[in-house]
Amino acid sequence: MSLRVYNTLTKQKELFESVKPGQVGIYLCGPTVYKPPHMGHMVGPVIFDTVKRYLQYKGFDVRWVVNITDVDDKLIREAEERKTTVTAIAEQCTRDYLECLGLLGIESIDYFPKASEHINEIIAMIQELIARSHAYASEGNVWFDVTTDADYGKLSNRTADEQESGTRDLEGSGKRGRLDFALWKAAKPGEPAWESPWGQGRPGWHIECSAMSTKYLGETFDIHGGGLDLLFPHHENELAQSECATGHPFVKYWMHNGLTRIATKLPGGQVKMEKQSKSLGNVIDARELITTRGADFVRYLLLSSHYRSPIDFGEEVMASAKKGLATFQRLFDRVHRLTGKALAEKGDDMDRAAGALLEREHAGYARAILGLKMKFLEMMDDDFNTAGAIAALHEMAGEVNALIEKNGLEQKKQDELLLATVAGAQTIKNLGNVLGLFSGKTLPATGPQDALPGQLMELLIRLRQEARESKNFALADSIRKGLAAINITLEDRPGGTEWRRE
Ligand SMILES: [Zn+2]
Repeated sequence: MSLRVYNTLTKQKELFESVKPGQVGIYLCGPTVYKPPHMGHMVGPVIFDTVKRYLQYKGFDVRWVVNITDVDDKLIREAEERKTTVTAIAEQCTRDYLECLGLLGIESIDYFPKASEHINEIIAMIQELIARSHAYASEGNVWFDVTTDADYGKLSNRTADEQESGTRDLEGSGKRGRLDFALWKAAKPGEPAWESPWGQGRPGWHIECSAMSTKYLGETFDIHGGGLDLLFPHHENELAQSECATGHPFVKYWMHNGLTRIATKLPGGQVKMEKQSKSLGNVIDARELITTRGADFVRYLLLSSHYRSPIDFGEEVMASAKKGLATFQRLFDRVHRLTGKALAEKGDDMDRAAGALLEREHAGYARAILGLKMKFLEMMDDDFNTAGAIAALHEMAGEVNALIEKNGLEQKKQDELLLATVAGAQTIKNLGNVLGLFSGKTLPATGPQDALPGQLMELLIRLRQEARESKNFALADSIRKGLAAINITLEDRPGGTEWRRE
């Protein structure tokens, strides 16, 4: 079976062949860290964590990079409004983002490069673009001259009339063409700034991704991901800069995921689907949803539709995800009751057991499970169709439940049938694992009350962090000591503070 991937660049599904045999490089545009993460920020990480898991399942060695944009106009504005520094906001929001990824069980990202720590690489790439006459410096800014790139527009397929520069605030700062975009911006007083050949300034947004993806994955790499909203201008500009700077193809497969939509009830009772955005006030806080509903629920919800379709957060969709996930939990609990032990994290599946079963009367069942495993893999091979893969797991659960019921296994235990039951359920669990589902530590909370201690601890940890940041060490210490008195220990680790009960 061979994997086919929909490539936004060619507008078709293509056979997946990595640039280097056996190795895959993935770059996903990460967050601009100026607000706490909402669910929209979790979509890309869940999808590409699944893409990485599946590529690893197929035997590839995968390196995955997600950047952190910690220098940006939005951050500067936010810092001004909140009367604090860009660094303080960036650090807090990066911590929040990484904690949410941790809560979702996403541990597969290899590098989180920050724009502020790659200024040298960014400056070097801009110099290369100037040397190759694709960029020009003017009044402390550096602009990319889109007229020098005959391929400009090939990713988003936009005609010149449809294009907007996205840098209107810098119009008149020495820009020659309407579509030219900023590689380097001269710093205004009080803004974060670095020394450069063009004076004090900071990088534009697009160039950081070109510079950092090249550094960690090479000049040509396999998969570049991001939300559809980044297609233009961000990805178009990244592509133009990178290919003009290196003279080589930048990315082999461009993968774009659909955006989140929220159901809003209109006065007449109708439901309207709207984009999740701060201006509409309909943002779903990522931490809140993950801690109240469980990581498995969130992953299941996001993977229940194809990654290229819009993702809805309507009541109906949420209820159906809850119901769908519960089917598997009930089955795992049932098998646990029957055998007296829980399924392994990764145990022998039907491939192992089939030999013995195929010669006996339950050969039909064994064949059905094996056939559904093939279906799961075919779905994943078809442009990572996780919705189809989950449907195959449901069919498999139906087969296992039917075997238990038809043979009255709960009333009368039969060894051979128990073996068949465990092999079927273990096949579901192992394949679910490829989607990041059903791992013991991400079991959904059974109710809001169960999540409360965790939420309260998160709140206390955050308050202590804020006390430290405002140099109120007495308060920070009092929180730690107060918790120690009730046998809760805090441990400060690189990824954030952890707590445990003694
Ligand atoms: Zn990017």
